[in-house]
Amino acid sequence: MSPDDLSTLQPATLVVSGGRPDPTPGAPVAPPIVLTSTYAAGGDLIYARGGNPSWEPFEEILGALEGGSALLFSSGMAAIHAALRLVPVGSTIVAPAGPYNGVHQVLTLAHERGEFVVRWVDSSDTEATIAALDGADLLWIESPINPLLTLTDIAAVTAAAHERGAIVVCDNTFATPLNQRPLTDGVDVVVHSVTKYLSGHSDLILGACVTAATERGVAAHASLAETRHLEGAIPGAVEAWLAARGVRTLSVRMERATRNAAILAARLARHPQVAQIRYPGFGAMLAIEVAGDADAAQRACAATRLVSHSTSLGGVESQWERRRRHPNEPETTPPNLIRMSVGIEDIEDLWADVSAALDQAADA
Ligand SMILES: *Cc1c(COP(=O)(O)O)cnc(C)c1O
Repeated sequence: MSPDDLSTLQPATLVVSGGRPDPTPGAPVAPPIVLTSTYAAGGDLIYARGGNPSWEPFEEILGALEGGSALLFSSGMAAIHAALRLVPVGSTIVAPAGPYNGVHQVLTLAHERGEFVVRWVDSSDTEATIAALDGADLLWIESPINPLLTLTDIAAVTAAAHERGAIVVCDNTFATPLNQRPLTDGVDVVVHSVTKYLSGHSDLILGACVTAATERGVAAHASLAETRHLEGAIPGAVEAWLAARGVRTLSVRMERATRNAAILAARLARHPQVAQIRYPGFGAMLAIEVAGDADAAQRACAATRLVSHSTSLGGVESQWERRRRHPNEPETTPPNLIRMSVGIEDIEDLWADVSAALDQAADA
């Protein structure tokens, strides 16, 4: 199906119908995995660091979901690095305080080494963000932010950044394009950890950049493709195939996970062992501040039978962890905060497991 045809479809349909070979009598309906390092001379494909047909089904689906043009990378961090390369060394970057900890570390190191000047802002404060944009070259957005789940007024800060000539990148991993399409708010480049909801089964690491069909977006696309080709952070054919398989159920997975998350958020708000619950009202991520100290939160995490005590998010299975157990987590994250990725299990089984773990942590 052509990108124009796909873009007329609703997300639940396009994840199923996109990324398939053109119907040909007798040919496979599912895309193949192409395992090769090189191609016979004379065609468009030359060497497999430059391209592999196995990347295309997922790129076609994600591009249509976000309303742009997608490039798969070997990981979310590889996609993020490529996006940071869109501005030259010495550039000023405005970034949200307390972002995904990989981004926090990369930008902190780049600032210390003098590669970039980084201005950290409270990204939920639109005025403060805009005030920091004078002289900036790149605005980094992450909304909802990991793990505090506060939101950014994407359209407002993007317009202000563009007025000042800055390029805008938005990490859309937590929201997914089902809840938020930053390119339609004017953002130039969306980045994803495909590892999370898009692939959805906690069985691979991949990332992606999606560029807008604007002058800035098209220029960014060429630069990102060049970075992928020359720095070599390309997706494996098998992972790309798994991601295309996983994304076909994105809509039904998100529907169930979101329903579960909303019910859990409401019940947890009344649980005596919960001091504060954060839920942005969409998506399936929760931030639970446990009554008591970090040890109480740590005990709760270790006490579940169903909910996996592990890092990461966006799989079919529920997962949780105390974020500050990672030494590199920004200090903006409270020590007693548990980040929970709500999965697609039965809600009553989940509630029984989570409430019992919180009770048990209190009794200790
Ligand atoms: C996991 C994550 C990343 C990094 O992606 P990887 O696939 O682990 O490299 C970036 N941003 C957010 C919001 C994430 O959750």
